[in-house]
Amino acid sequence: MATLPLHLATPLGATGARVLAVFARLVAERSGLTVVESDTAPAVVLAMAPGVGAEGFAITDDPGGAVRVTGHDARGLLYGLGKLLHDADWAPGVFTPGPWRGVSVPARPIRGMYFATHFHNFYHEAPLDEVTHYIEELALWGVNTISVWFDYHHYRGITDPEAQAMLVRLRDLLQTAEALGLDASLTCIANEGYADSPEALRAEYRAGQNGYYAPPAGHYHVELCPAQPGAIALRLQWLDEVFDAFQGIDLRYLWIWPYDQGGCTCAACAPWGAHGFLTIAEPVARAYRARFPHGQVLLSTWYFDRFTDGEWAGLAHAFAEKPDWVDALIVDTHGDEFPAFPLQHGAPGGLPMVNFPEISMYRCGPWGGFGASPLPVHLQKLWDVCGPVVAGGFPYSEGVYEDMNKVLCAQWYWDPARPAAAITDEYLHDACGTRDLDGVIEAVALLEANIEHGVDAEAARVRFSPVADTAHAFALLAATDAVLPAYARAGWRWRLLYLRGLLDAELAAHDGAISDRAEAALQELTAFYHADPAPWYVAPPTRARLAAGDQRWDQ
Ligand SMILES: [Zn+2]
Repeated sequence: MATLPLHLATPLGATGARVLAVFARLVAERSGLTVVESDTAPAVVLAMAPGVGAEGFAITDDPGGAVRVTGHDARGLLYGLGKLLHDADWAPGVFTPGPWRGVSVPARPIRGMYFATHFHNFYHEAPLDEVTHYIEELALWGVNTISVWFDYHHYRGITDPEAQAMLVRLRDLLQTAEALGLDASLTCIANEGYADSPEALRAEYRAGQNGYYAPPAGHYHVELCPAQPGAIALRLQWLDEVFDAFQGIDLRYLWIWPYDQGGCTCAACAPWGAHGFLTIAEPVARAYRARFPHGQVLLSTWYFDRFTDGEWAGLAHAFAEKPDWVDALIVDTHGDEFPAFPLQHGAPGGLPMVNFPEISMYRCGPWGGFGASPLPVHLQKLWDVCGPVVAGGFPYSEGVYEDMNKVLCAQWYWDPARPAAAITDEYLHDACGTRDLDGVIEAVALLEANIEHGVDAEAARVRFSPVADTAHAFALLAATDAVLPAYARAGWRWRLLYLRGLLDAELAAHDGAISDRAEAALQELTAFYHADPAPWYVAPPTRARLAAGDQRWDQ
């Protein structure tokens, strides 16, 4: 069997060995080569030696003809091997390093990704080894933190068997992250509650009172009101049980979320973001810090001033002196605008900010229902505004169909000035296994222009009014498909792009009705997402799902 000889110039340690295994897997998948350790005529030399800066790497040429990857630390090795893999060219039995040489060190410290592990989406349903491989491949782009959420409202307490099953899965995801040298992060809602939370302690959610002109979005109606005696104590007891369930995992960050879900519109709590939220978030933060003394509290401002007024201004007032229980603010919204208040007034408390870009659901439902959803132009516009003021961020992900969007964000956290076009080029070279990318790049621009999709439940068809040429986009993708190397053509990243082009062309040609070709594509996506048990909004709209007729697009 053909081999790729690799020399270890320094010991790599346990994390480095795990990183090397990821490299070896991907080399084998792309070329059929087996990576073997050898100090005779190695093709690749690996070293771990501090020097270039935390998490950074260097790729250089060795006198003997090998390419050398030197990680400043285990993460640097991971990201350096990522660069080597993404830049390389592959053929059966052949690995050809790409042209990139130099030193690269990340600009921003927090380069996270949030996996929304719910709704029977890919993260919830896919076999664990598929999700593990995905975390490995995502990490290669510079990601250093994975965040997950244990969503209480599904369960009747932590001993609910389904809660226990979910905790096992979330632990597995975070342990995968830690084994790769990444940080683990947990999300929570400040006042979240289980399905059987005590009714006397529950939060108010109605609008038309206490300054609320709209009800808090997505409220589960089982959240706690911190003004009710005993509610905070119960919240902290539940939090402690969750921390026990994650024992052994070093939770580097705890997010505390105000809305969507969560919040309370009662007189004592309103406006939530400036009153009740802080009343309950502070003890939650302190309880976390007591368990994880080096952990960092990230306080979210999601949907501030959306259902009521005065939340941003109230937070700025409450944090007139920098609070000692918050390390950074999470600031973002979905849509086309970054929140204006912190841009105009600075972050409350002078705290660092991280962003939370919505990369999964933008103008397209069901989410991921039509394959890949690349958004380089949209995300670049948002990054141009917030990039200069954030210390990193956590894109919100509902699945793998927006993989390119994740890579764009991860690379901006690494190098804020890198243009979307350069990142897209590198991504597509990696996904397609070719440098002949003009057609794919043009197709991606057309797919982004045509991102808007929905479901017409009454007519049992897809709502799709393309603004760019769908037939041309698919022709470009089909022409590329015919010349791709076999490993890339079969790879899911390419397949999701190709199927998106096919579906757009078929839907446009049939006025949103599902043709036989479209149905086959939707079935393929359903199988790949493991979406059979998923609700309509995270599942491809097959004929059977459209015929069920229970879709409402009220997001
Ligand atoms: Zn309340």
